[in-house]
Amino acid sequence: MDASKLHPDTLALHAGFRSDPATTAVAVPIYQTTSYQFRDTDHASKLFGLQELGNIYTRIMNPTCDVLEQRLAAMEGGAAALAVASGQSATTFSVMNLCEAGDNFVTSTDLYGGTWNLFANTFKQMGIEARFADPADPDSFRKLTDDKTRCYYAETLPNPKLEVFPIKEVSDIGRALGVPLIVDNTAAPMFCRPLDHGAAIVMYSTTKYIGGHGTSIGGVIIDGGNFDWESHKDRFPLLSRPDPSYHGAVWLEAAKPLGPIAYILRARVVLLRDIGAAMSPLNAFQFIQGVETLPLRIRRHCENAAKVADFLVSQDGVTRVIYPGHMDGEARRRADTYLNNGLFGALVGFELDGGVDAGRKFIDSLELLYHVANIGDARSLAIHPASTTHSQLSEEDQAATGVTPGYVRLSIGIEHPDDILADISQALAKV
Ligand code: PLP
Repeated sequence: MDASKLHPDTLALHAGFRSDPATTAVAVPIYQTTSYQFRDTDHASKLFGLQELGNIYTRIMNPTCDVLEQRLAAMEGGAAALAVASGQSATTFSVMNLCEAGDNFVTSTDLYGGTWNLFANTFKQMGIEARFADPADPDSFRKLTDDKTRCYYAETLPNPKLEVFPIKEVSDIGRALGVPLIVDNTAAPMFCRPLDHGAAIVMYSTTKYIGGHGTSIGGVIIDGGNFDWESHKDRFPLLSRPDPSYHGAVWLEAAKPLGPIAYILRARVVLLRDIGAAMSPLNAFQFIQGVETLPLRIRRHCENAAKVADFLVSQDGVTRVIYPGHMDGEARRRADTYLNNGLFGALVGFELDGGVDAGRKFIDSLELLYHVANIGDARSLAIHPASTTHSQLSEEDQAATGVTPGYVRLSIGIEHPDDILADISQALAKV
C-alpha cells in the first residue's frame, strides 16, 4: 500500500498501522508499558547510540504513541511527528527546540491566551524573547527579524478574531531569510494543511478536534521535512552545534540516515528525554479513536457552524457575527485561500448589543450548549470571554484581542443543527 497515494480521510484509518505484529489485532493496542527488553547488549548500545531506532523507555517513545505520530504526520503531509502531554507542551517544545537564552522569535499577536502567557512571561524568564507581529501586515515579521531570530510562530484560525493567518506570505518571507514558520493548526484540522502553504512545522493541541470526545489532554508536533536547515546552519546552533548531552552529536548530521527529520529527532531525544512531557499510551489510544472519525466529524462541525452563523445574522440584539465565511476583503481572501472545501471552521463569535449583562444572560440561559473554557469538543460549547477567559484584561486590552463586552464565542459541535439553533434561539429570547 503506497500511503503517498491515499487521501487524508483514508490515512486517518490506516496510516502507521496495519495489524499488531504480536497478535494480528486490527485495533491499535494500548502498549501500557514503561520499558522494553533489549535483545542483547549490542542491541541496547545501538539503540542508545541512535544507530538503530527502537523502543527504549516510554518517556521517549511508545508503540501506541508511534502509531498516532505516524498517522498525523501522514495526514498532514509531514515527515515525522512527536506526541507530547498537551498542546502547551507542544508549543513549548516547538520553540525551545530552536531557541536558547539570548535568542528571539517572531510571533503573531493573535494567539490562544495560554500561548501568549508562555511567550510573554515564561519564555522571557528563560531569556528567550518573543517579538509580537501584526498578522494583518505580513511584512511586520520581516521587520522584526534579526540574526538571533530562530523561528516564526502563528495560529491558522485564531479566536476570537477568526481571521485566517497569511501562511504563505509569512513563510515566503521566512524562507528567504532562513527562518521556519511554526503553525498551530488546532482549530483547522483537515481543512487546512499549513505545510502545503510553506509552513515548516505544524503543531496541534490534540485535546480539541483530534480527540473530539473531550476525554484527554495531548499535543503533537509535526516536522514538515521541507525546511532547508543545512543552508542556514548558523541560524540554528541547536541543530548544527555538537550537543554535549549526546556525546557531541550534531543533529543535522545524526538525522541524515533517517530522513529530513533533524528537528523532530532533537525534540524527542533531547527535549522529551530531559523535560519529560510524554503522552500516555492510553491517551494516544484515545486520540487514535478520535483521528479515525475526524474527517467525518470536522465536516459536520463546519456545516453546523455555517448554519449557526447564517442564523445569527438575522437575530434581534445581535450586532455582529464573526465567522470567516461571512468576512470580506483581505480576511475573506485568506479564508478562501487557506481553508479548503468551503469549510470555515466550527468557531463562531457574535456580539450582543446589551454588553456584559446580555452576554452573561445568554450563557446562563443555554440548556443544550455547555458553558466551558474549551473548543473542539463533539458537543457544542459557549463562553462569554469578557466575564471569564479575558476578565483579567482591561476593557482596552480586551478590545485589542477582539473581545468586546457583549462578545460570545461558540464552538459548534456535531449535534443535529436544528437542536443547536433551537437552544441558541431560546437563550437569545431571554436576553
Ligand atoms: N493552542 C490552541 C489554539 C488552543 O486553543 C489551546 C487550548 O485551548 C492550546 C494550544 C493548548 O492546548 P492544551 O490545552 O492541550 O495544552
